[in-house]
Amino acid sequence: PDQLEFFGVAIANTTMSEAIDWIVRRVREDRPATIAFVNPDCLNIAYGNPEYREVLSKVERVLPDGIGIRFGCRILGTSLRANVNGTDMFPRLCERCAHENLSLFLLGARPGIARQAAENMLQRYPNLKIAGSCDGYFAPDAENEIIETINRSGADILLVAFGVPKQELWLWKHRSRLKPRVAMGVGGLFDFYSG
Ligand code: UDP
Repeated sequence: PDQLEFFGVAIANTTMSEAIDWIVRRVREDRPATIAFVNPDCLNIAYGNPEYREVLSKVERVLPDGIGIRFGCRILGTSLRANVNGTDMFPRLCERCAHENLSLFLLGARPGIARQAAENMLQRYPNLKIAGSCDGYFAPDAENEIIETINRSGADILLVAFGVPKQELWLWKHRSRLKPRVAMGVGGLFDFYSG
């Protein structure tokens, strides 16, 4: 099956390369999509947080982050094709975007971290277009300005790292105002790639 229902969340049963193809296609076809990665910890948070649970039921795509979901599916008697997590996806997505001439905006993490992660990816993929980056500790009244900055940057894809579930709730709340066609919550991704 294309999706597996796991504790009430429909998880895409896909592979890394198909997931990246899917993202590129959504951008090319101008069809907005929000993507959430979930691991067992996220399901645990969803269990106690109806707002986050609702967002997970509404986003266009939920991807299985880490081996925990795969193990869980096996225990429940179904089999998930792959572990499609954000950490493995990021460099591959950057490589593909460089090739396809699609640009990324990185929002979130402590000041300087997203920019450093962007610079590290630019070293690896010199043709990559980073439309912009911004830290995730802005004041609430700076929110409109940040959304404007993202939209003006012309980014095709937005990566947001505020942690679960803040990033998913934020993306869902602002989805109609955000111009990047594909947006996804990526947790500690920028911290990981800023080293
Ligand atoms: N973060 C942020 N703004 C906030 C709270 C958190 O930008 O208001 C960032 C934090 O600096 C870190 C990321 O969000 O880079 C959360 O990482 P974590 O590994 O905790 O994410 P999760 O485990 O929830 O995926």
